Amino acid sequence: MKTSTFFLVLALIAWLGATAVAALSERTYGLMDDIGMRSLYSDRGPATALNWTDKTRRGFSCMLLQSSGIRYCGMNVQLGDGVRQGIDFADYSKLRLEVEYKGPAEKFRVYVRNGIPDINFADSKYQQVDVPVRRGAYIYEIPFDTFEVADWWIESAQVQNIPEFRIPSRDNLVHIGFDVSTPIAVGQHYFNITEFSVVAPWLGKTNRIWWAIGSLLYFIVTGLLYNFFRLRIQLKEHHDEMFGLLKKLQEAGTESAHFKRLSMYDPLTGLLNRRAALDLVDQFAQHNSLTGTALVVMDIDHFKQVNDSHGHEIGDEVLKRVSAVVQHAVREGDAAVRWGGEEIVVICPKTNADGAVRVAEKLRAEIKHLAFSVPGLTITASFGVANIRHGESFSQALGRADEALYEAKKNGRDQVRGHKTT
Ligand code: GH3
Ligand code: MG
Ligand code: MG
Repeated sequence: MKTSTFFLVLALIAWLGATAVAALSERTYGLMDDIGMRSLYSDRGPATALNWTDKTRRGFSCMLLQSSGIRYCGMNVQLGDGVRQGIDFADYSKLRLEVEYKGPAEKFRVYVRNGIPDINFADSKYQQVDVPVRRGAYIYEIPFDTFEVADWWIESAQVQNIPEFRIPSRDNLVHIGFDVSTPIAVGQHYFNITEFSVVAPWLGKTNRIWWAIGSLLYFIVTGLLYNFFRLRIQLKEHHDEMFGLLKKLQEAGTESAHFKRLSMYDPLTGLLNRRAALDLVDQFAQHNSLTGTALVVMDIDHFKQVNDSHGHEIGDEVLKRVSAVVQHAVREGDAAVRWGGEEIVVICPKTNADGAVRVAEKLRAEIKHLAFSVPGLTITASFGVANIRHGESFSQALGRADEALYEAKKNGRDQVRGHKTT
């Protein structure tokens, strides 16, 4: 799987997980936390038979006798001021009552009273639901949407004609409680309350909105990150591709340049070879006139003797050193060419015969003073110089330079001869 897809899936799983946890979570409001807010009641007031059975006011008992006329008894928890200012439980969904009961009752009446903040309205709205009794310890989960506004309250408050008062509400609860009532359950009732609380899903109305907003932001950020990473990865891939291509091109370039160099230069001396020189001259001649170009032809004297006396390796050394001298001495724009064997041609554009002779003399002097690995070995060279005339070809001029070289050899070597212009 691609890294970017993996990232998206991971983000989705994280969100689903968080949502599942949030959906399963709940918050509770404990009704048993404040001992002072709960009280026992019956329709005759706190009678002798109605008592807390422990100090923490979690257990109570009451006795209902046919003859006593007491019809109900139970426990009430007051919220807020108990009349007008209560607690908003609109977000909460149910009551939870954890109670151990012993007695003859078939059902509990669970109720809430919603305060009405109208100054002329003294009585809070009574809403109730009957819950079938389970003997022993049991947890009752009582959803708020099972509550109904009690008919007796509608009558006593005389709000039969005001539909609003028939609708259950819990945005301002001032009392919550439960009792045993009709049908009158004659006998002794024992209650032991472990927990009594109001429960809201964590994702209640308010949190649900925040959750939705949070989720939206989460997915926007996730989307942005996803695109960012995907772009980065794509860029990197492109970059790698480009880089690879460039590298190949470069390698190919270096390779061909390398071969070109190899094909143009003489491996022993590093001078241009004859073929490359002729190519260059041809190219030059196509666009420019060769007239005014001087040619110096040089040949090492008695080179065969060097080879014969000192060996081919020394011969090579001499060739290299002499070539280096030539290469170093010529101007930029001049071309030093190993014409063959121990014969070197220097092509000097825009140089007159005198200038070429000066170049040759300079080379002659420098070569003569070279010292080699063989003590006492001295090398000289002979030079023939010619200037390419108007209308003359390169090889014609070279022929004349060769004639001049021949003259130099014939005259005792170690000298420069210019071809006579006449
Ligand atoms: P001259 O003064 O008349 O020029 O006499 P020379 O001995 O220099 O002339 P010749 O042309 O008879 O001899 C040239 C010698 O150069 C023959 C050949 O063995 C040698 N030679 C040619 N190329 C190389 C090379 O690359 N290395 C070495 N060591 N010798 C070479
Ligand atoms: Mg020679
Ligand atoms: Mg020769």
